[in-house]
Amino acid sequence: MNLSPVNQIFHPRFKEHSVEVFVKRDDLIHPIISGNKWRKLKYNLLSAQELGYQQILSFGGAFSNHIHALAFACSQHNLQSVGIIRGEEQYQHNFTLSWAKHWQMELKFVDRLTYKQRSNTEYLEQLQSEYPNAFIVPEGGSNQLALPGMGEVITELNEQIEYDYLFTPVGSGGTIAGLVKADKNQHKILGVAVLKQQGYLTDEVNTLLEDSAEEYNKWQILNQFHRGGYGKYMPEDAARIIEFSQTTGVPFEPVYSGKMVLALLDLLEQGYFEAGAKIMLLHTGGLQGLGGMAERGLLNPADWPVPKHAPSQSR
Ligand SMILES: *Cc1c(COP(=O)(O)O)cnc(C)c1O
Repeated sequence: MNLSPVNQIFHPRFKEHSVEVFVKRDDLIHPIISGNKWRKLKYNLLSAQELGYQQILSFGGAFSNHIHALAFACSQHNLQSVGIIRGEEQYQHNFTLSWAKHWQMELKFVDRLTYKQRSNTEYLEQLQSEYPNAFIVPEGGSNQLALPGMGEVITELNEQIEYDYLFTPVGSGGTIAGLVKADKNQHKILGVAVLKQQGYLTDEVNTLLEDSAEEYNKWQILNQFHRGGYGKYMPEDAARIIEFSQTTGVPFEPVYSGKMVLALLDLLEQGYFEAGAKIMLLHTGGLQGLGGMAERGLLNPADWPVPKHAPSQSR
C-alpha cells in the first residue's frame, strides 16, 4: 500500500484563528474502499491466512462501510467473505450490498434481536460451528488486530509532516485506539464521537489498549458533537459540511468525517486552539455510504460526492 497523501487545506476560519489545517487523505487509499476499515482489516486478514482460514465472517448494517471494505479486501486476498447483515433480504439490492455481492460476499440476513447477539459467546460458537473455516471479526473490525494497521497512519505521518493535534471520527473505538497506541503520547489526539453515548467509548478504547492503557494520557473523546446521534444531522450541519468541502476541495460525508469537520469549526469558534497550532484531520473515508443515502432520498446528490452506482444495479 502506498502512503496516503497529506494536503494542507485553506478556509477563512483558519486564518482568523491563526491555525494551519491538514488532511491525511485515507479516503484516497483506494478509489472504492473506505480508509480506516481497510487499515483495520489488514492484519486481521494476514493473521487469518497464517492460521489457515479460508473465510472471514463479520457483522454489519445494510449500509456498512466495514462490510463493503471486507468484501473487497477478501476478494483481493483470495478469501471468502460472509456478512451477517442486520435487516431484511430486500436490502441486498442497495448500493453497499450490491458491491458486496459483486465481490462474492455471502450475505446472511438476521433480525434485530439476533444481530444484538453479535458479541455473545454462545452465538459466536454457534456461528463458528456453522462456518468452521471462518475467522470471525467483530462488527466494524475493531479488535486487537485492528490496532497495528491503524498505527501505520502514525508511522506515515511521522515521515510526512509535523503537527500538534490529530482529529479522527469515532464509532466503535478501534481507529482511535490504534492511533493512540502507535503515537505514544507525541500528539494530542481528539476523537469526535459520531453517536450519542455516555462515555462507554473511552472504556472500549481502554479495553483495546489492554495493560498499556494508562500510559497514554494525551487523547480524549469529545462527546458533544454527535448532532443528535448516529447518522443524524440538521440541515444547517449539512450546509456547513458542503460549504467546507467546496472551500477546501476535499469531499466529506455527514456520518463520520463531516462530524469531525463540524467539531473542528465549533472548536475554532470557541477559541480552543492556540495561535500557530497545526491541526491534522484523519479522513477515514466512508464516501461509499453516500450511495445508500442518495438511494434513500436522504440527501441531494447534486450537493455531495455520491459514488456511481454499483455494478449489478441498473438505474
Ligand atoms: C467506521 C468508521 C469510523 C469509525 O471508526 P471506529 O474504529 O469504529 O471508531 C470513522 N470513519 C469512517 C468513514 C468509518 O467507516
